[in-house]
Amino acid sequence: MTGRVHLVGGGPGPLDLLTVRAWRLLVSADVVVMDRLGPTDLRGELRPDAEVIDVGKLPGHHPVPQDEINALLVDRARAGKQVVRLKGGDPFVFGRGGEEVAACLAAGIPVDVVPGVTSAVAVPQAAGIPVTHRGVATAVHIVHGQGPVSASTLAALRDPEVTTVILMGVSAIPRIVADALRAGVAADRPVAIVERGHHLDQRTTRTTLGSAVLDAGRTGIRNPAVIVVGDVARAELLLPAHEMTGDTVR
Ligand code: SAH
Repeated sequence: MTGRVHLVGGGPGPLDLLTVRAWRLLVSADVVVMDRLGPTDLRGELRPDAEVIDVGKLPGHHPVPQDEINALLVDRARAGKQVVRLKGGDPFVFGRGGEEVAACLAAGIPVDVVPGVTSAVAVPQAAGIPVTHRGVATAVHIVHGQGPVSASTLAALRDPEVTTVILMGVSAIPRIVADALRAGVAADRPVAIVERGHHLDQRTTRTTLGSAVLDAGRTGIRNPAVIVVGDVARAELLLPAHEMTGDTVR
């Protein structure tokens, strides 16, 4: 009998930010195919006989190419296994989840998708940043930092009512900033860079577009991080800054 692939969103890291559905599927899975981001300390929670395969990717390194991951999912499901493909955040937000679904469907493997808490919203939130806020930001533009900065991203950066959320953007900060300033985005647009959101070593760097390159270099910003550009990134939007620090991580 053919098994099934469940493409499961794991959220930004802590186990208690998994959905109940994700949890139920994980604890009963025959095979768990894990990523680098999202919940990683699952060993003690899975079935002792579960096969755990880590295909985690470091930025710039792809230990397991996407077509091999796809083939792996199909292979295990064909062997009759219940396969959980656990992804960081939500599977359909820059997670190549669509490609994995397509690969399963093309191979005739039943597949379903369990949504997850995406870092695009939850990581800013962990630093006290609402991605929309009445009277401040009425729209959100979510983009990845790889490749050229598109016209739509420049328009979002320029629009005072739009929050721009950049994933996978740490190494691209100098290029994004240069393109934005050249396109006429105000140098004083607030920027917040939130590293390791929802982890104990979470860190938030507040700066502006004009100072972001210097400040990111000075503080040694590292992946994974979410970059937020827009008025919601101002340090004192909700509370005086000193009241926000320390109480946002468990
Ligand atoms: N599908 C995922 C995103 C995958 S792209 C989601 O919905 O969250 C990977 C990027 O997500 C990282 O480069 C980083 O920008 C962001 N990210 C994921 N988890 C994070 C975390 N805990 N803290 C900061 N950034 C995170």
